[in-house]
Amino acid sequence: MLFAPDLHGDRQKLSPIETEASKETVMTTDASAVGHVLPGPSDDLLAKLEGIYRDIHANPELSMQEHRTSGIAAAWLRERGYDVTEGVGGTGVVGLLRNGDGPTVLLRADMDALPIKESTGLPYASDRTGTDRFGQATSIAHSCGHDMHVTWLMGATRVMAENRTDWRGTVMAVFQPGEETGQGARAMIEDGMVKRFPKPDVTLGQHVMPLSAGQIGWRTGTMLSAGDSWEVTLFGRGAHGSMPQKSIDPVVMAASAVMRLQTVVSREVAMTDSAVVTVGTMSAGMNENVIPDRALLRLNVRTFKDGVRTRVLAAIKRILKAEAEASGAPKPPEFSVLSEFPLTRNDDAATRKTVAALERWFGTDRVTEIAPATASEDFGRFGAAWDVPAVFWVIGGIDPATYANAEEAGKLDELPANHAPDFAPVIHPTLRTGVEAMLAAAGAWICPAAASSV
Ligand SMILES: [Zn+2]
Ligand SMILES: [Zn+2]
Repeated sequence: MLFAPDLHGDRQKLSPIETEASKETVMTTDASAVGHVLPGPSDDLLAKLEGIYRDIHANPELSMQEHRTSGIAAAWLRERGYDVTEGVGGTGVVGLLRNGDGPTVLLRADMDALPIKESTGLPYASDRTGTDRFGQATSIAHSCGHDMHVTWLMGATRVMAENRTDWRGTVMAVFQPGEETGQGARAMIEDGMVKRFPKPDVTLGQHVMPLSAGQIGWRTGTMLSAGDSWEVTLFGRGAHGSMPQKSIDPVVMAASAVMRLQTVVSREVAMTDSAVVTVGTMSAGMNENVIPDRALLRLNVRTFKDGVRTRVLAAIKRILKAEAEASGAPKPPEFSVLSEFPLTRNDDAATRKTVAALERWFGTDRVTEIAPATASEDFGRFGAAWDVPAVFWVIGGIDPATYANAEEAGKLDELPANHAPDFAPVIHPTLRTGVEAMLAAAGAWICPAAASSV
């Protein structure tokens, strides 16, 4: 049976598309014949969600500091009868809604914002400031769209709570802290997720991306890259700026190392593989006439294969050590891990089952297979912790006309993307699309008749 959303009527249930074959089927109101699916969000709910989204956007919180946001999510879940546990791995929230025998689905939204000064000019733009994990004062903005993720999951959990005859099983809503720093999923798991909550049959997550709003992107296998961030301290010997012969200059050492690091990808990674090595922070010294005694680099690596990851990380370490030695450094560099994100791998069978439900809801023209993205996520840690399948997909947030114009002009790379100060998804239709996508995807698992038609 094919299904498509009824876009024109008041009804928000899926309507069967009439096909040559279905004309011969006797349509009944019996759920087992037409298939139960979860309805989409009502206009009232969407209006309420829009208010919540604007509020969370204007009040972003840094990683592992999501006290206000998690409080909003927890109160919302409690209002509709979820069994809510707060403070999981810091500010994490887990809401359980048990609705008879059936599968358990874990639905995840990350909550944290970034140390970025927002420049979207939106009426609900953030002017918040705070202290980041390095102790630095910073502006804060939802430049990765996690405010949208929180709002999507709030919408989906509400629809599930209000339509319990459409599904059976257990919904586990997870509002996760600290995705940007790679701390949050690990912190929740280390706080006993696996022992304290039921084992899910599948873990589902979604992320807003710079695709055309209303579009959904998916793939099986590798979906997102692994991500590794390091802080490296290079040691020299300080001296007066006028007497370089008395120094071992860490600024030159760092500059040389940064240039040499550019050869890791270009000279050590095969053409058929890929990797990214970015030095995002380089700092040394305070005064023009003082040669400092150390330099600090923070770098970020993205890879799609374990072997490439091992090789790239080893090459980075080798180059930094060798540059220090070439400079006559008094001691070797010090390395510390800032974050580690595993590869995000989508289970083949679980992804196909989920995508079939997304296609039934949105139509195949809105659900597209995409290439792996070099973004990284810690979402995969939940599936790995329980050894159950993970499915992660992306949802467009760029105004469709803006996207189409940029595509025609060959300027898609000039559109604001996640982590840019001017990135924020358009609320419509991004908000509705994400709520519906989560409901359709979860429905593939917890709506028995829908699942059996796959
Ligand atoms: Zn991000
Ligand atoms: Zn993100």
